[in-house]
Amino acid sequence: MLAVVGSRVYAEAQTVKPRMERNSLMMTRRQALRNTALASAACATVFANRTARAQPKAATASATTTATIVNGPFILPPLPYPFDALEPHIDARTMEIHHDKHHAAYVANLNKAIAEFPELGKKSVEDLLKDLNTLPEKVRIAVRNQGGGHYNHSLFWQMMKKDGGGQPSGGMATAIDRGFGSYSAFRDKFTEAATRVFGSGWAWLLLDGHDLKIEPGPNQDAPLSQGKQPLLGIDVWEHAYYLKYQNRRPEYIAAWFNVIAWDFVADRYSKLSAL
Ligand code: MN
Repeated sequence: MLAVVGSRVYAEAQTVKPRMERNSLMMTRRQALRNTALASAACATVFANRTARAQPKAATASATTTATIVNGPFILPPLPYPFDALEPHIDARTMEIHHDKHHAAYVANLNKAIAEFPELGKKSVEDLLKDLNTLPEKVRIAVRNQGGGHYNHSLFWQMMKKDGGGQPSGGMATAIDRGFGSYSAFRDKFTEAATRVFGSGWAWLLLDGHDLKIEPGPNQDAPLSQGKQPLLGIDVWEHAYYLKYQNRRPEYIAAWFNVIAWDFVADRYSKLSAL
């Protein structure tokens, strides 16, 4: 039941995820802790390509973080590492607030928004975001913002890791060289995009068809809604860096390159480019 982002597995993902998420509503906290791996699987569609490797890590991290039920079909996935794993580049307090408060709020508000449309709770957040125009008008903006926030952050945690950074290798490295000339040129272009985001948003490395692109994304807009697959993204909302870096966003961006989980990004690229 390894879920990858792609139409081939949607049917399976749609039937598995909501059922498991509803089941998790009835869990006691102890059960939830014991079943962290199960909860990770329930998030398989947002945990996408890293599911198999994320499970043991999530279980290890369950002492500090666990999947959290927020009154509805969508759940807050556990952070796949302790809050302080990304120190000194991203501080533990920022990670704690970012995950436990900000991401949790997106999940809670998504659940609230779709409460009167139970059929929407049976879909994966990816499917909701891919077809915003088919949603009831009443919930379209909330799903775009809150669902986008849930999806983007679920990926963001996995795009970083302790002792990350360095440069990609293998097919990802080749694709970056082909798309941008070199890793160094990629890094410059990505840094510029992230620095230039006005207000709150993200900068993304995207797979658009078979092409790699770097694009800014306002607010919590998910690239999926434009038919593009995110490979790597940096959250440049102030909540992602303000405690440590205040107004010095360029310092945060430079530090963030030291925590990129290139193995996760390369794995996504390899699976998504093969679809
Ligand atoms: Mn954020």
